[in-house]
Amino acid sequence: MNTIEEIIKIPKYIYNCTGHFKTITQHKLLVMKYCFRVGLYYQGLMHDLSKYCPEEFITGVKYYQGGNRSSNNGERDVIGYSKAWLHHQGRNKHHYEYWIDYNSRNDGDVMVPIKMPLKYVVEMFLDRIAASRIYNKGSYTDDMPLKYYAYSANRIPMHKETKALLYGLLRMLEVYGEDKTLNFIKRRLLKYDTY
Ligand SMILES: [Zn+2]
Repeated sequence: MNTIEEIIKIPKYIYNCTGHFKTITQHKLLVMKYCFRVGLYYQGLMHDLSKYCPEEFITGVKYYQGGNRSSNNGERDVIGYSKAWLHHQGRNKHHYEYWIDYNSRNDGDVMVPIKMPLKYVVEMFLDRIAASRIYNKGSYTDDMPLKYYAYSANRIPMHKETKALLYGLLRMLEVYGEDKTLNFIKRRLLKYDTY
């Protein structure tokens, strides 16, 4: 810190640091609660831990968006892409972007989406509920995660069977609500190894 401009920014960084820490921790605790509810204890504890390492945390503070928009988008606005997100997606198996690999056959696209393991599809679903709840604060309703997903569903590279399961869970949430959907996941869906 040597220039006046940098010194002036210190209170802003402290504010952003507290705000970003609160946002990611609030999200993590909510996903943990949901994961525990369906019996995914290890995933509940480990969810999004990489957000606390310097590669992701410092960027999150620098591009903090006030808690109602992702700091990754703030970084994209400024440098054109998000280094924090690239670090995150390669380490967290509940993101479908983690499951994109080279096509071993000589047909179609060079990169192809892989069918995600069941327990990570469930974590991705719970992650989406928690994100919708936090970004929409008091106005959250059970149809919001499906609406958010539907906005980009046709344009994302996710395996078609993974898409079908995610859609089914989001639709179940919209129609039957959180309690029934979480009970179904715990008592029925997770009794199987695959889908
Ligand atoms: Zn994540």
